[in-house]
Amino acid sequence: MTSSTVPKPLTGLPDYVGDGIYLHVRGERFIDCASGTFNVSLGYSAPEIIEALHGQLDRIVHLSSEFTRSRSAEIFELMRPDLPAHIGAFWFRDITGSGANEAAIRIAQKATGRSDIFSLFLSHHGQTVATTGVSGNAFRNRSFSLPMAHSVKIPGPDCANCFYGQTPGSCAMMCARRLEDFVEYASSGRVAAVVVEPIMGNGGNIVPPRDYYRVLRETCDRLGILIIADEVQTGFGRTGSFFASTGYAADLRPDVITFAKGAGGVGIPVAGVLMRPELDVLEQWEHSSTSGANPLALVALEETVKYIRSHHVLDTVAVSGDRLLRGLHTLARTFPEMTGVRGVGLMQAFDLPTSVDVEEFIALGRRHGLILRGSRYGFGNTVKVRPPLIITTAQVDDLLSRLRDTLHDYQK
Ligand code: PMP
Repeated sequence: MTSSTVPKPLTGLPDYVGDGIYLHVRGERFIDCASGTFNVSLGYSAPEIIEALHGQLDRIVHLSSEFTRSRSAEIFELMRPDLPAHIGAFWFRDITGSGANEAAIRIAQKATGRSDIFSLFLSHHGQTVATTGVSGNAFRNRSFSLPMAHSVKIPGPDCANCFYGQTPGSCAMMCARRLEDFVEYASSGRVAAVVVEPIMGNGGNIVPPRDYYRVLRETCDRLGILIIADEVQTGFGRTGSFFASTGYAADLRPDVITFAKGAGGVGIPVAGVLMRPELDVLEQWEHSSTSGANPLALVALEETVKYIRSHHVLDTVAVSGDRLLRGLHTLARTFPEMTGVRGVGLMQAFDLPTSVDVEEFIALGRRHGLILRGSRYGFGNTVKVRPPLIITTAQVDDLLSRLRDTLHDYQK
């Protein structure tokens, strides 16, 4: 490492210091198993990214996206070797996952001339009216009237709680095949797209069997429906490939991919859409936001892509992810309350008996130097373990031993 690539701890608001995978709060050090808000994917202080951001701050902070289109195009070309081969166009005009998903909905509707958007039970696609409307986590909408007129929710590949009462291996992926029935009976028959998180994040870290992707793709091809992969959580290395759609979920072959969160590396907001070239249908004025594709966001995006490559982050995710998963399975053998260990790469989780246990567990975890996050609603008994992608195997062992201590306390 040159002196400029040695990570320096970053002092934040008076009480906080971010240092790699660690967040120090009033002098106390925590392993951040939530990677910020699942966005600080390269840790708090990735030096090359921070330096490049400083460099940009010395130049110009805002330019209208009208003037940054060619920079976006360069970054898209930079990303291209890591994208599915059929992806040939981009729309980098957003700073949030919600915004990118809204863009994807618009793209699907405009390109197909059809209205309906299918999504999965328990899915989460954002906080705006439209994206909350297409999200399958209805409990979030209890206090609001959020019409997304053309939204249809369908059962997803949640094998542990199969909607159809099937068991994996003998179900023939009924949840993907039954899409056909929903097109016929639950929608106006004018289906533009189905939007799926390749691994459902907030809905409980649900990992479908690989066959699900293949069968969903075949079904959508037969019905002429687009697939939008919401890779806001799974993108930029989280599952050990650049996108889940280029690794574990490659058979999904999505027509559209949305990204946000980890794309900013150290937490800079940047989001976008990737798609088949023929879906590049939006006019500038049809979808953008004031700060979309601003120079600072584009620097973060570019440097994140470079960092993932130059630091072999995908290899780290594979090795550290494997160690973490094996470690979680070992803990589950000792602690019977811990069940359902699951995950791909560094997107992992386990269940506790109830959501109250999860709240208690998270609080106990703090005493052992862990920041953990749960799924507090819906499948509220899930504890998510998603540290920054730069975590070393020694740090994974430390994390696991802290989890073991937390589990001991929890059992008392
Ligand atoms: N999609 C998924 C899968 C998400 O997890 C989230 C945020 N948790 C969003 C979309 C919305 O992203 P944002 O909060 O940046 O709008």
